[in-house]
Amino acid sequence: MTNRSISLTDSLYEYLLSVSLREPDLLRRLREETAALPNARMQIAPEQGQFMALLVRLMGAGRCLEVGVFTGYSSLAVALALPDDGRIVTCDVSEEWTSVARRYWSEAGVTHKIDLRLAPALETLQRLRAAGEAGSFDFAFLDADKENYRRYYEHALELVRPGGLIVADNTLWSGRVADPANTEATTVELRRFNARLLADERVDLSVLPIGDGLTLARKRPA
Ligand code: CA
Repeated sequence: MTNRSISLTDSLYEYLLSVSLREPDLLRRLREETAALPNARMQIAPEQGQFMALLVRLMGAGRCLEVGVFTGYSSLAVALALPDDGRIVTCDVSEEWTSVARRYWSEAGVTHKIDLRLAPALETLQRLRAAGEAGSFDFAFLDADKENYRRYYEHALELVRPGGLIVADNTLWSGRVADPANTEATTVELRRFNARLLADERVDLSVLPIGDGLTLARKRPA
């Protein structure tokens, strides 16, 4: 079928990676170290990191925001794509996971670009708005607890500039969102999030079947 997105078999996925992935050695090592952790599935796919880096470069982004750091793969991919005076504010609550992230950010020489806020992300986002940073970000990546996605999204929409991009991870949730029999709280919340964005006239929208589903929402100029 040519009028729908292609299904990825294992061999086709391997082929896709073989003709496109340019993962720096440091990111590969971080991915491999993270793969050994119990929460390894929280890490984004390498082609997704590369795609986000491409978006950041396409936009000429200078100020980025990330909600949900885990071991820092996506922050590092984005930081490497930022100019030297670029900045990414990253939010997480885990000292343990972000200590892995900080080790790799340091080795990559990008710590000056990364502003890690160890606090509940809703507090950090509120604090950024209170500090007058609304409209000052080019790019925001949401990849934390799905129960708060709609709240994170509303904050991010305030914090990005018109024309800025919000990217949300896991919006296809291993296919569970399309299974009506699945009524798990997280699945239900992601369905609500997806429906909310479809109806949101404030953004241009695309949902990509990359990784676990990646939603792109561009803030329309008022
Ligand atoms: Ca994720």
